[in-house]
Amino acid sequence: MATYEQLFENNRKWVEEKKAGDASFFDKLARDQQPDYLYIGCSDSRVPANEIMGLEPGEVFVHRNVANLVNATDLNVMSVINYAVVHLKVKHIIVCGHYNCGGVRAAMIPKDMGILNPWLRNIRDVYRLHKDELNAITNEDKRYERLVELNVQEQCINVTKLASVQQSYVKNKFPVVHGWVFDLHTGILKDLNLDFDEILRGIQEIYNLTGSEE
Ligand SMILES: [Zn+2]
Repeated sequence: MATYEQLFENNRKWVEEKKAGDASFFDKLARDQQPDYLYIGCSDSRVPANEIMGLEPGEVFVHRNVANLVNATDLNVMSVINYAVVHLKVKHIIVCGHYNCGGVRAAMIPKDMGILNPWLRNIRDVYRLHKDELNAITNEDKRYERLVELNVQEQCINVTKLASVQQSYVKNKFPVVHGWVFDLHTGILKDLNLDFDEILRGIQEIYNLTGSEE
């Protein structure tokens, strides 16, 4: 485990390594960011966003919270998505969950978690929406894994409910929303292959905020 002082030493080494690879690395970094991706993932320390996608600084705009939730009353995630879509004009929004997610696990336990209750409620709501499918899975570990996937799916749907996302997509055909799950045991990213157009069509009857009749 690195000590606190060690972190600054690590930073100095990182600066040297980057400069050795590209002398103008930090000059380029200091210019405007133009990432193509917005990544919304879990705060879990074992899921480092840039690293698992092989992306360098400047290539991905990142938001992380417990269990990668997209809640319409969370000013933080709403601001991140709005800035990424309206100003950075990202082409893809990725919601990435992970198996062995403590937040999802906690939501499966019927217990008063104090301050965490309203946050975990979002995941309990996902369970309620998919109760029949989940309760039909007798193996508890498999049910837990499926809830991780369904949570990602529902958060992707929450992203598509946003006016900024819908309006940009109608106009530009981006951003496209993707749902992924990271497997801690293998390091592999799994694409849930959600059909973004299908999701958008499915919610438009109720959540159409594009200002059009369609
Ligand atoms: Zn997690």
